[in-house]
Amino acid sequence: MGAGVALYDTLASVNGRRRRAMPIHRHLTRSGMAKKFPDLRHDAAIGAIRYWDAAVDDARLVLTLVRTASQYGALAANRTQVVELTHGESGAVNGAVVEDLESGERHTIRARHVINATGVWTEDTEALAHGDGGLQVLASKGVHLVVPREKIRGDVGLILQTEKSVLFVIPWSRYWIIGTTDTPYDFDPTHPVATSDDIEYILAHANEVLATPLTREDIIGTYAGLRPLLQPGTKEGTSSSKVSREHTVASPTPGLTVIAGGKAHHLPSHGQGRRGLRHRSSCKGASLHHRPHPAVGC
Ligand SMILES: Cc1cc2nc3c(=O)[nH]c(=O)nc-3n(C[C@H](O)[C@H](O)[C@H](O)COP(=O)(O)OP(=O)(O)OC[C@H]3O[C@@H](n4cnc5c(N)ncnc54)[C@H](O)[C@@H]3O)c2cc1C
Repeated sequence: MGAGVALYDTLASVNGRRRRAMPIHRHLTRSGMAKKFPDLRHDAAIGAIRYWDAAVDDARLVLTLVRTASQYGALAANRTQVVELTHGESGAVNGAVVEDLESGERHTIRARHVINATGVWTEDTEALAHGDGGLQVLASKGVHLVVPREKIRGDVGLILQTEKSVLFVIPWSRYWIIGTTDTPYDFDPTHPVATSDDIEYILAHANEVLATPLTREDIIGTYAGLRPLLQPGTKEGTSSSKVSREHTVASPTPGLTVIAGGKAHHLPSHGQGRRGLRHRSSCKGASLHHRPHPAVGC
């Protein structure tokens, strides 16, 4: 564990500058843990490693990306659903019909190349191209509980090992965010919600280490999301460029690129993957910028 965190520290210091991006990790004794996290049960651990990490407000990150793209000439549209992919005479995808979900109006957009990045909806949107190829994506639901900050006395976050994965107890503004779960999901992806079982699972694991157990009454909110989990391989007839273990870029049909899987923090390599595929394919798609650009608002 110590070696793993030391490696994490080393990677965090590789930031192209002379100074460290984050302070280095420290080992904590039982009394050290009690000072940092008074509500951690005394017998929960014999020691801990305290390390530093960075947090991102994902809503602000998305807004920053949209504003930056707009500054470089992109036209962004919210609440707009692709309902059809259009094809040119050669059969290549050459645009999309989109529906404004507020007014119901439909618009046809022409494009030199279409990139499909629709998460757990990937297979539905691939089907709009009427081809057989593409990526196969399953959904895994993750749930978090939100608890007021005063319900747990502690100045740091906790990462706990569970039988399946890990559980985070993270301070976030005036709250604690506790989660997550990882369960297969095959219902309507539009509105995943936390079930009673999800809540019990998270409470049970958090309470294993908390001096004062949390109850359902302490929970002021829950939220759920769906992870797009890439299935091994691609559908027949699809060229793919595996840019990492976690996400894949594929070209199921001329004019269309699909990207799915991975994590939000792999965003920069998503762009590289798209470029990698383009160099190998004959498509004359719009190229992505090769140099890093400052984001608007940063
Ligand atoms: C509980 C949980 C915790 C996570 N924690 C982390 C973490 O700590 N770090 C991390 O890096 N990642 C984390 N992830 C993973 C991360 O959220 C996903 O990997 C990432 O959101 C995938 O991005 P995406 O753009 O591929 O898909 P999504 O974010 O799902 O976006 C797909 C978009 O496509 C849109 N769409 C679908 N169909 C259409 C259509 N027909 N027309 C127009 N638009 C359409 C959808 O509305 C949606 O906005 C977590 C995920 C979950 C669920």
